[in-house]
Amino acid sequence: MSQVLSQFLKIVFLFLTIVSTVHARGYENIFNVVEFSHVQSVNIDGVSVFYHGHSEDETNRSLHDIYKMSQKLKGYYPESKICKDITLHVYSIDFDILNNREVSNFLSWSSWGDSDIDAVYDARYSPSNTSAIFISTRHAARLKPNILAHEVTHYWQHTRCMSQSEDEAREFAELYITGKT
Ligand SMILES: [Zn+2]
Repeated sequence: MSQVLSQFLKIVFLFLTIVSTVHARGYENIFNVVEFSHVQSVNIDGVSVFYHGHSEDETNRSLHDIYKMSQKLKGYYPESKICKDITLHVYSIDFDILNNREVSNFLSWSSWGDSDIDAVYDARYSPSNTSAIFISTRHAARLKPNILAHEVTHYWQHTRCMSQSEDEAREFAELYITGKT
């Protein structure tokens, strides 16, 4: 093979590698290893919320919780108005898969000290006009609403064009699970 040709092939190969690396930075890796047997959606005040779960009971219960949280968030943020039409997708993921740095490579792990997470809200790598919550399946049913309420608060902040506040997400989740909202 001529040297020019082999140089050319090397460049083409390098280019393809770079392109595929760029494309892999998203949810593809997660969807390659996780299958969701129960996907269902509800309409909450004109916006669709999808839950991708592993049993009918889990999916129904979680969608019911998200509906209730959304009603309570109206009271928590009485002045807020929707500013973006964003479909929410909630994905129930095994803890070890969620925390596998190669699989969940779209998350900026360094921004929270590279510690393991129970859930995350993401709007940076989701398809346009959608956002996503990834929540770990590890939790007992009674702990899950706390984590879900925290992430749904981030969705609310995002779609109401408010700044992302960790304190408020934590506070709302606490009020929600103690029935004080
Ligand atoms: Zn948060």
